[in-house]
Amino acid sequence: MSKRSRKVSKKKSQKENNENSIKIANELSDNQIFRKEEYSMLFTDYRLKTFTDWPFDEDNSCNPYALASAGFYHIPTNEEPDATRCFCCYKDLDGWEPDDNPWEEHRKHSPHCAFLSLNKSVEKLTVDEFLKLECERQKNKLKKLFHIKIDELKHHGKNVRMEMAKINK
Ligand SMILES: [Zn+2]
Repeated sequence: MSKRSRKVSKKKSQKENNENSIKIANELSDNQIFRKEEYSMLFTDYRLKTFTDWPFDEDNSCNPYALASAGFYHIPTNEEPDATRCFCCYKDLDGWEPDDNPWEEHRKHSPHCAFLSLNKSVEKLTVDEFLKLECERQKNKLKKLFHIKIDELKHHGKNVRMEMAKINK
């Protein structure tokens, strides 16, 4: 239970924000051209392949297949080896417990995720549903990138103020 709360309360380090920023910036690409790596995360099988070193197996409810089915792919870092991200709402969750239900955790931490609302895999969507989902996904990706950039700017501003305070002494 205590670990689960980390999913919302844990503050990401600047280093990790930078790592995530690079990953998302790569996904955005220079000209918004079609990128296979980005779109592959829409599909359960590709998300499943990202869980190469997951601590819990199929005897636990929090297993790679359940996570991938619930929209998550694995984005491990040294500090957060169990970090995951939803391909649609871009919510990052870590601190998973073996008996967690990925679908329920997803709903709890990101109740408005368009993928959850549709409640079916991308392979089974109609063209109309797919386009709506893709529109939401692109909006969420940009929001995520902007939040990361704002944090970077705040961090930079703090450093500049500290340097200026030293000069004024
Ligand atoms: Zn989501």
